[in-house]
Amino acid sequence: MADRDELYYRSCLEHYHVSRRGLFRGLFGGVKKSQPQQQMTVIRTVARPPTALDEALFVALCNSCKACEQICPQQVIEWGNDNKPQLNLDYNHCSQCGQCQQACPTKALSAEKADTEYRPLFSAGCLNRVSGQCQTCVEQCPQQALTIHDNQQPQLDSSRCDGCGLCRASCYIGAVTLRLVG
Ligand code: SF4
Ligand code: SF4
Ligand code: SF4
Repeated sequence: MADRDELYYRSCLEHYHVSRRGLFRGLFGGVKKSQPQQQMTVIRTVARPPTALDEALFVALCNSCKACEQICPQQVIEWGNDNKPQLNLDYNHCSQCGQCQQACPTKALSAEKADTEYRPLFSAGCLNRVSGQCQTCVEQCPQQALTIHDNQQPQLDSSRCDGCGLCRASCYIGAVTLRLVG
């Protein structure tokens, strides 16, 4: 990407409210009008802090200052090989406190919806499935995204889930894994 493009859109972000779709359209629309937009989509392969913009725009705007990593009270932001911040929810959950977004000087973290893009998967070892005696993850979920019935694994309403990882952190037998859905 030419420096002029990045500077232009950074300026836009500072002065106007621009939707993610609008930013993408503006960022790539002038390159080749006839090129389908989906060819420009960059698939996110690692989790980013919860208000990261679409991957190509995030990578373009992030200046690797590490302010988000340093301020995160949950210590779930770590440094990736791409010299950009990544989310690691293996040992803690994201409290969705918003401090990383507030600390980010470039608006790389400025999406309207805070979502890590992780979603939980529940294994067959789920205690409720085996014995009907556990509702821990359902009770812990701050978004009320989980429901459970006798002797079944929890059911996820993905539209309510923000990928915080608290269900995984609360499951004391390790029956919850997180997958990146992008
Ligand atoms: S929202 Fe808060 S807890 Fe989550 S990654 Fe950002 S600073 Fe850390
Ligand atoms: S605070 Fe923003 S610009 Fe700095 S490393 Fe984090 S995402 Fe990148
Ligand atoms: S990741 Fe967070 S919001 Fe989503 S189901 Fe688990 S606890 Fe609920």
